[in-house]
Amino acid sequence: MSAAGLETELNPMQEGDDMPSVDEPHPLCWFCRKKPATELYIQPKSTKRVCATCLDRLQVQDAYEHAWLHFLVLEDEERYEEVLAGIGAFLEANRHRDHDQWLARSITRDRSSVLFEAGRYAEADEACDAWGRFPFDNVTDRWFHGSAKAQIVQALGRPQEALAIFEEAFSHQDPRYASAIPYYLHWLVDFSDAVGQPVDEKWRRVAEAGAEDFAVEMPVRDSLGESMLALAEMTREMPSKRQREWEATHGGGTGEDKP
Ligand SMILES: [Zn+2]
Repeated sequence: MSAAGLETELNPMQEGDDMPSVDEPHPLCWFCRKKPATELYIQPKSTKRVCATCLDRLQVQDAYEHAWLHFLVLEDEERYEEVLAGIGAFLEANRHRDHDQWLARSITRDRSSVLFEAGRYAEADEACDAWGRFPFDNVTDRWFHGSAKAQIVQALGRPQEALAIFEEAFSHQDPRYASAIPYYLHWLVDFSDAVGQPVDEKWRRVAEAGAEDFAVEMPVRDSLGESMLALAEMTREMPSKRQREWEATHGGGTGEDKP
């Protein structure tokens, strides 16, 4: 196939896909950046060159995310046993393709969430701890896990410990993820409220970093907690700094908001 023909076949491409040049003899896999890219990972809006292992892993993720839509319907109908059995069966059927433990981690996390919804808090707690033993990809993963663990501990009747758990998770900060801060602030308010305490002043700087990322001032309210909730509400639909920069350089459209 001519180089021009290959270009056409690889379209549609999205800007920022970082597609290697066709002249490059052994382009590296888009996903792992380690192995030579020998396969094409085709999605509705883009095509990426990947290695065989990553193609397998990405297809497992797509399949699980698709299956989850079905499990979600069952969960809404409170058919928890069926969801737990279904996700367990999915893991067993695909474990050999779970090259980087993405599936095992996701299913452990979802198991914890389903058990929580079912009111089986002790089991949810165990699953949540198992989820926490997988490595976190970034600080938002850690915050998400901390908020889930704290909700379980609160449901088990230990609100002071719940607050401490969330505060510990949220104390891990990374400026690259400042745009996610406002979304998580309500947990500080909720877990503090549950023990009858105002949100600790030490979190003001973190909330301000979140506001800075959206180029807004912290809203002034009667308490720090109320300011945080107002900030979360205000920024919910706003583009983050990263999205604004992306739009400025790419002339509109939707920028990816994850580093
Ligand atoms: Zn790869």
